[in-house]
Amino acid sequence: MRYISTRGQAPALSFEEAMLSGLARDGGLYVPETIPTMSPDDIRALHGLSYEETAFRVMRPFVGDGFTDETFGDLISKAYAGFGHNARAPMVQLAPGHFLLELFHGPTLAFKDFAMQLIGQLFEEALTRRGERVTIVGATSGDTGSAAIEAFKGLDAVDVFILFPHGRVSEVQRRQMTTPTEANVHALALDGHFDDCQAKLKDMFNDFAFRDEVRLAGVNSINWARVLAQVVYYFSAAVSLGAPDRKVSFTVPTGNFGDIFAGYIAKRMGLPIDRLVVATNQNDILHRCLSSGDYKTSEVFPSISPSMDIQVSSNFERALFDAYGRDGSAVAQLMDELKSGGGFHVSQGALQGLREHFESGRASEDETLATIRKAHDSMGELLCPHSAIGVKVADEHRDPATPMVTLATAHPAKFPDAVEQASGLRPPLPERMADLFDRPERVTRVENDLSALETLIRERINK
Ligand SMILES: *Cc1c(COP(=O)(O)O)cnc(C)c1O
Repeated sequence: MRYISTRGQAPALSFEEAMLSGLARDGGLYVPETIPTMSPDDIRALHGLSYEETAFRVMRPFVGDGFTDETFGDLISKAYAGFGHNARAPMVQLAPGHFLLELFHGPTLAFKDFAMQLIGQLFEEALTRRGERVTIVGATSGDTGSAAIEAFKGLDAVDVFILFPHGRVSEVQRRQMTTPTEANVHALALDGHFDDCQAKLKDMFNDFAFRDEVRLAGVNSINWARVLAQVVYYFSAAVSLGAPDRKVSFTVPTGNFGDIFAGYIAKRMGLPIDRLVVATNQNDILHRCLSSGDYKTSEVFPSISPSMDIQVSSNFERALFDAYGRDGSAVAQLMDELKSGGGFHVSQGALQGLREHFESGRASEDETLATIRKAHDSMGELLCPHSAIGVKVADEHRDPATPMVTLATAHPAKFPDAVEQASGLRPPLPERMADLFDRPERVTRVENDLSALETLIRERINK
């Protein structure tokens, strides 16, 4: 299995190489050259398997020979052992035909743990085998950073630097990043928005001298291995609702388009997914683009669902690549227009292609709060604000003939202020992290400046 860049100008890589490098050297994102498929019988055979066994069968064809079957299976087991629920991704019913897939039972209470815990294991195994060391730099709107730090802290072969927007993450998110004591963990509070963090990260990757000097590796959702790990729960959820003999739809609270793109891959692999619904908050560039064809960035408006406060949705490039018939130069041109002019127009044919797979909707701040309140009053379910956006949009797109699964992307206790504002209830942290607010914090404030950041990273790793 080879991986190619969405911009068509970087060498094809193996799974392991694509995972360790993150972003392609032409600025593009790696995607599999071909998508392996599972037959209805293969999918039927997943009934009754554990999450880990399902994960092995779904991901194995993408991973190639770098890892043996036995090693890969062991790494999967280790990755999910620290989850607070045996099913890993359990489902609850909200209403007839509407289900909530709880993806928040990992160590940092958001779905990011599904991918990050696994790639922590994969990185350690691959780097130890190769005798190499890397510097991981990640940008986060809150949840990726805490999940990455949790997954990579204390590992010998990596330093991990996380850039988060100063003052724009929730207190639980910040503390999950600033309280680990391991020396290889570096939490950096940047003066700016998430998009500034992501832009600085991309600039570092495009500074090849720096990239090679520090052996930069990326674990943002642009990393293919993360998308792959997220494909698994689409299978486990759909199978438990009767796939392949029954179609299932999914609604996904979306920011960087990573999680929903994993659903698209599941569909391309043969999982009978009827609709994939993109749910955005008031930062609704994806909803506007799927509605009008105009992908136009604007200011970021901070919301009560901060993990979706995004205007440049990195993984959308992967969907565009397919919508443009895998024409890397067409994608490169769109991305140039985005960089120079703040937007682009999707061609009629490509837009049609996108709409074949994706629908979309948005929720305002008031609608989000009202949904949290309603879900609590009528179903006894406390939703985090991101999940509430999903539930609201799912309700608008639901068709009674097909079960709808809404992805619950974070635990309500990760966003207690919004949940309390809506429901009057302050959700407590699970027992295993109840002392989070007593632990001392360690964080470095940094300016939104590339060379200052690069200097800081050099100094820290050469200590
Ligand atoms: C990251 C995140 C999202 C958005 O996921 P994408 O893969 O970036 O679309 C939604 N909700 C929560 C809680 C998140 O942490």
